[in-house]
Amino acid sequence: MEIFEKIGDAASKTYKFTAEKTSKIAKETKIKMEINEHKGDIKDLYLEIGESIYQKFVKDEELDMKYLQDKCKEIQELSDKIVACKDEILTLKEKRQCKNCYEEIEISAKYCPNCGYEQEPIKNDETSEEDGKVNPKDIDSKDNNQVEELEKVETAEEDNNDEEN
Ligand SMILES: [Zn+2]
Repeated sequence: MEIFEKIGDAASKTYKFTAEKTSKIAKETKIKMEINEHKGDIKDLYLEIGESIYQKFVKDEELDMKYLQDKCKEIQELSDKIVACKDEILTLKEKRQCKNCYEEIEISAKYCPNCGYEQEPIKNDETSEEDGKVNPKDIDSKDNNQVEELEKVETAEEDNNDEEN
């Protein structure tokens, strides 16, 4: 019986570690999906712009510059969102991007191991102050809830096993 208890203990420790890792991977996947969505929206906008220009050509009408500018602005906003998403992934992985060669490097690195460029000191709470960004704390609390849910499920399964034994 003692052996089983030990196994159980080790298993739950492994589980906690895995859950943390899984939650990070889940977050990264979610952000990557968001990036793909934005990329899809940008492609749609390109199509809309192209089609509208062609329609104007066919009807022999003047281009609606206001409309085109608005569409371009939408693309720009989506591009900014993609950049923010990529930053979020880097923070999640505890990495940063070298400002000189764009190589992914450790967040604590003072110099880029790839090109030797000196890195800016790390600013704290940089992300939470920016407008239009999802507060990382919100994401954390959501995922913690998910982990708690998983733990509940696991406990329930353990109870079932006890009954069977
Ligand atoms: Zn570099």
